[in-house]
Amino acid sequence: MAKANLNYLNLPGNYLFSTIAQKVKAYQEANPGADVIRLGIGDVTQPLIPAVIEALHLAVEEMGGEETFRGYAPDLGYAFLREKIAVFDYQSRGCDISPDEIFISDGAKGDCSNIQEIFSADNSIGVCDPVYPVYVDSNVMAGRTGLYDPEAGRYRDVIYMPCTAENGFAPEFPDRVPDLIYLCFPNNPTGAVMKKDRLQEWVDYANRNGSIILYDAAYEAYISEDDVPHSIYECRGARGCAIEFRSFSKTAGFTGLRLGFTVIPDDLEADGVRLWPLWARRHGTKYNGAPYIVQRAGEAVYSPAGQIQIHRQISRYMENAAYIRDQLKMAGYEVSGGINAPYIWLRAPGGMTSWEFFDYLLTRANVVGTPGSGFGPAGEHYFRLTAFGTKDNSVRAVDRICRL
Ligand code: PLP
Repeated sequence: MAKANLNYLNLPGNYLFSTIAQKVKAYQEANPGADVIRLGIGDVTQPLIPAVIEALHLAVEEMGGEETFRGYAPDLGYAFLREKIAVFDYQSRGCDISPDEIFISDGAKGDCSNIQEIFSADNSIGVCDPVYPVYVDSNVMAGRTGLYDPEAGRYRDVIYMPCTAENGFAPEFPDRVPDLIYLCFPNNPTGAVMKKDRLQEWVDYANRNGSIILYDAAYEAYISEDDVPHSIYECRGARGCAIEFRSFSKTAGFTGLRLGFTVIPDDLEADGVRLWPLWARRHGTKYNGAPYIVQRAGEAVYSPAGQIQIHRQISRYMENAAYIRDQLKMAGYEVSGGINAPYIWLRAPGGMTSWEFFDYLLTRANVVGTPGSGFGPAGEHYFRLTAFGTKDNSVRAVDRICRL
């Protein structure tokens, strides 16, 4: 008899954003005409930049020509894109990463959830708390997390590394050393960053203990301060202990176009086994490549015009972030993030829980954010707002919150 993967039943209820969507839908059905502003899910709102649109058009034309048509992409992705990434994102920052260590994909979500497949099922995992839910959920599906304790809001076998106001939302080393350590900086949801010397300590810790760091740098393009590393490979010894994920989603508005990449150093090993060939095998077996036209669009992001245009786009989002952050601070909220990341992290006032504050903002201000507790137990009493809305919506939402 066929048997289902029972690990899935160990996931607590719905994915966070489905729960939010259901609540908002129910509210709107009960209050038709309510002008609800969404600063919840981290999706972008600005259109693709002209350099990308132009590259897409050209690539579409190529696909219609007998001489220029392309079928399956090479397993790692097209060299024209991997070479740009290696030079612009890594070598220009002094990171020793070559094009052949870059695997092109259709985004970071798939990569950072699939990567656990190349590690043994008995590895322990350490995650920041709060954290982007995908890291934990993908390990639940693989049976690596132990049972969920609904009282505590956590999995028995996951090593949670609290990120709190006291530690500047950057984790301390946990009591038990995790085999796999998920780090995401600039962080979703707190908007916090790890300074270079602190990240170096984590790299040294991983090398000392034989752990692998799975470093999600999806928000790297939002870094504005100098001493914040854009890549973990800026740290000494990171080639020996780290895999990095990047995405074009927030860098260049590709959430609907889909493009990302994973970096695995050629010589990176886990317990004496090289990981590059394992991911190459996994990638080649289960994935047939990001579309040619999308990879050409990604290449255009690195053109001189593309760079100017994406920086302009990111600045607009960060103007929203500054407005949200400053206004809420002035209104007396305890606020962080929003300087090197498009996320603003605030403490719910009056001791409200995250979901109480969610309901309060939805019903009293018609503003939707994301409850911090949905990202982990240490997120309780916190709330995330994103700067990815339009300027008009960001201003209107914050003004409504401040008036409450
Ligand atoms: N990693 C983090 C930390 C994210 O917040 C997101 C999206 O919100 C992703 C990865 C997913 O990126 P992509 O759109 O490339 O799949």
